[in-house]
Amino acid sequence: MALAAFGPRLAASEAKARVVVVGGGIGGATVAKYLAATAPTIKVTLVEPKPHYTTCFFSNLYLVGLRSFESLSHGYETLAQRYGINVIHDSVAAIDPVAKTVGLKSGRKLPYDRVAVAPGIAFKYDALAGYDEAATQVIPHAWNAGPQTKLLRQQLESMEDGGVFVLVAPPNPFRCPPAPYERASLVACYFKQYKPHSRILILDAKDSFNSQDLFLDAWERHYRGMIEWLPAQFTGGIKAIDVRERSIKTATETFKAAVANVIPPQMAGQFAQQIGLADQSGWCPIDPVTFESKLQPGIHVVGDATSAGDMPKSAFVANSQAKACAFAIAGALTGSERLPPHLFNMCYTFLAPDDAVSNAISFEPAAGTIKIDHSFVSQVQESAETRRRAAHEAEGWYDTFTHDTFG
Ligand SMILES: Cc1cc2nc3c(=O)[nH]c(=O)nc-3n(C[C@H](O)[C@H](O)[C@H](O)COP(=O)(O)OP(=O)(O)OC[C@H]3O[C@@H](n4cnc5c(N)ncnc54)[C@H](O)[C@@H]3O)c2cc1C
Repeated sequence: MALAAFGPRLAASEAKARVVVVGGGIGGATVAKYLAATAPTIKVTLVEPKPHYTTCFFSNLYLVGLRSFESLSHGYETLAQRYGINVIHDSVAAIDPVAKTVGLKSGRKLPYDRVAVAPGIAFKYDALAGYDEAATQVIPHAWNAGPQTKLLRQQLESMEDGGVFVLVAPPNPFRCPPAPYERASLVACYFKQYKPHSRILILDAKDSFNSQDLFLDAWERHYRGMIEWLPAQFTGGIKAIDVRERSIKTATETFKAAVANVIPPQMAGQFAQQIGLADQSGWCPIDPVTFESKLQPGIHVVGDATSAGDMPKSAFVANSQAKACAFAIAGALTGSERLPPHLFNMCYTFLAPDDAVSNAISFEPAAGTIKIDHSFVSQVQESAETRRRAAHEAEGWYDTFTHDTFG
């Protein structure tokens, strides 16, 4: 959508509406930026506890030494300086829809006319016996990028050659469907070079997974005999994690890991649960055009926390939803034209450093939800040159995409 679409009309308006955005991840930062850039008469405040955002996308490359940690880190200075967004580093503790205030952990209250919430995901620790938040310091999930990703990398680096890296993959729906299998692929690439006697075991909570044919083909071509994938129908599912022994118990067998990576089942971020934006599914139902909550009028939700029909939980989707949401909020507050949303996903996945696949999907609101409109997906038989090009494109995508959100 063009940034200038609302500019001249809103500049003439008298409105001094206030929008508070909760969460400065991909979804929240994009809502804040696109609102501030397109509707200058709206005062935009972004609340995010962390001074820097670390992207999960490309964190699998960092994990195996193909990218620096610093290259994944993005600050909020440009959003504040170029777009005039009031960035507050604090946590939101509550929203009072009657007084129309957002309450911060520090005790401060921010008045609002609309609020947009993008808190990402939380983990259902009670779904995995023996695994809780404290256990993540021994067996990381590394599903939020930052200290967890660093811990898993240290463990991989200090692992003796000949050990087994056990990855527990979560049930649907979860953040970034291809990412556990991308992680297994890149860890195999690392083992091939530095720990050639080591193996990878994926214990899956599912019987199939996203882009399975592409991964199975790549594992055979690049990492023959190194990666074993056990679906739930073979193991009977994960029954318990023994953190001290670093072992994972399934219905049929117990697997001992040299390094374990447990990615727990997921739900909408804690804050969404706490203020009643999530339904029994654990995710937040939204209007597919405006991204206004179906449970709490006046509060919009975008990103991984949403239950958004066919849309997967990806950064590209969070960014796309955020733009639609920003235009809907600007329309509601200023009376400017409301355009139908254009919703997309574009995803690159690395099978090896010079072998990447992609998918591109457009979506449209339909029958109260969001459905796939058109899609392109990489095919198994593509040439090595096509795959190399996709890997190169992915690097460019990272820069353009993070600039679109934070730049
Ligand atoms: C290993 C891995 C690889 C991935 N690769 C890709 C990829 O290649 N392409 C892709 O498109 N996606 C990818 N993803 C998915 C992508 O990272 C997520 O979909 C995206 O981050 C979702 O954005 P979000 O804004 O919903 O949540 P987040 O980006 O998690 O942001 C949520 C923010 O909200 C803040 N917050 C939470 N609670 C509060 C509160 N109470 N007050 C204030 N702030 C709060 C948090 O601090 C956080 O900054 C990957 C994910 C993983 C794990």
